[in-house]
Amino acid sequence: MPDKYITVVTHPLVQHKLTHMRDERTPTPEFRRLLRELSMLLAYEVTRDLPVKMIEVKTPIERMSAPVVDDKKITLVSILRAGNGLLEGILELIPEARVGHIGLYRDPKTLNPVEYYFKMPPNMDTSDAIIVDPMLATGHSAAAAITRLKKLSPASIKFVCLLASPEGIEVLRNQHPDVPIYTAAVDEKLNDHGYIVPGLGDAGDRIYGTK
Ligand code: URA
Repeated sequence: MPDKYITVVTHPLVQHKLTHMRDERTPTPEFRRLLRELSMLLAYEVTRDLPVKMIEVKTPIERMSAPVVDDKKITLVSILRAGNGLLEGILELIPEARVGHIGLYRDPKTLNPVEYYFKMPPNMDTSDAIIVDPMLATGHSAAAAITRLKKLSPASIKFVCLLASPEGIEVLRNQHPDVPIYTAAVDEKLNDHGYIVPGLGDAGDRIYGTK
């Protein structure tokens, strides 16, 4: 798999936090705290190549020209509902970023993703979009979300998750080879229920304590 397509963030702090999130004994408040911290570390990696512009600043010593990012041009797109868990931490790091939401559910008969919510800020064609969803499992929701977002022609699209399955990566790579994936780990496989193995269980349930 080409390096440019998938970035696995192997930093020890990322892996440490991920291990505690995987642990079934980790309670919801702790899971949320770890997710917030981990999403900031992932955001650091995914924004590594952001363009900067130079501005004039005056230090206590003298004037200088120094770089700043145009964070108003970034749109974070959360795939509901678990995406919101990743969104919060990234927003702490990029507070000026704009935010969009996509809601999809799986049709029980066809198993295809069906859109029930789609709200983006205006002028997406001048924005760099970062889609966030903790689990890249079958890849079908992520692929559908990217297809939908592409209709607004954002300047670029990246996909950020905590965990990815080889199956999900393959689906995204086939359908959207222009969208790089950032993840903390690529796990072994999907089980018959579409869960990532060994994974961390249902991310939404663990973030919101709904089980
Ligand atoms: N969604 C989850 O929350 N967990 C998985 O393992 C797969 C999809």
